[in-house]
Amino acid sequence: MSKETIVVVEDEVDIREVLIYNLEREGYQVFGEADGKRGLEIIREKTPDLVLLDLMLPGLDGLQICRSLKADSETSSIPIVMVTARGEESDIVLGLELGADDYIAKPFSPRELIARVRAVLRRRTSPSIDGAGMFIDREGVVIDSRRHKVVVDGLSVSFTATEFKLIHFLAHHPGWVFTRDHLLSKVVGQENFIVDRNIDVHILAVRKKLGPHRDLIETIRGIGYRFKNINE
Ligand code: CA
Repeated sequence: MSKETIVVVEDEVDIREVLIYNLEREGYQVFGEADGKRGLEIIREKTPDLVLLDLMLPGLDGLQICRSLKADSETSSIPIVMVTARGEESDIVLGLELGADDYIAKPFSPRELIARVRAVLRRRTSPSIDGAGMFIDREGVVIDSRRHKVVVDGLSVSFTATEFKLIHFLAHHPGWVFTRDHLLSKVVGQENFIVDRNIDVHILAVRKKLGPHRDLIETIRGIGYRFKNINE
């Protein structure tokens, strides 16, 4: 069996070495790079199973790399975990909106690092032409974005386009809380006047269709919603 490969783009040599050391010890094949531009080249060349991406980088910053990877069908399904420093919260949000899968904040413990990497690899997207291919399996609910299908306890349930986008987006970031405004802009979009702009209505509909698994979508009072993180 070939090893899973990870590209680490991080300019701080100490952190890069810690990352590489711990990932190699777990049996991954790791390629490290300090410069953003070269990092992007290596990712394109290796098409790894996962990318660990620092945000502040020489050459090309992490968000630009993220954007380039997501815009290219060859690389758009490669999971990205951002390696972030304190004070980069707005960049983290932007990175997640751009399609990054998760982030890990410095300083981190090797245990935390490996747990995050494993979790992201586990729910890795399957490669597809549009890059949106995703297959999530949570407690009897399967979300298959390639077939645009949700299966609840073995039965295919029909979702509207908006409902599907909503559950797909939430499920892609388990444990993350999103505000109603954020979900609205993400899911309904600015240009669509036909769809009901009350996100609660869509959430209600999604929950109804999830039946016994309705609790997978959690209400966070005063803030918004999140998809239950079953690893918690
Ligand atoms: Ca840096």
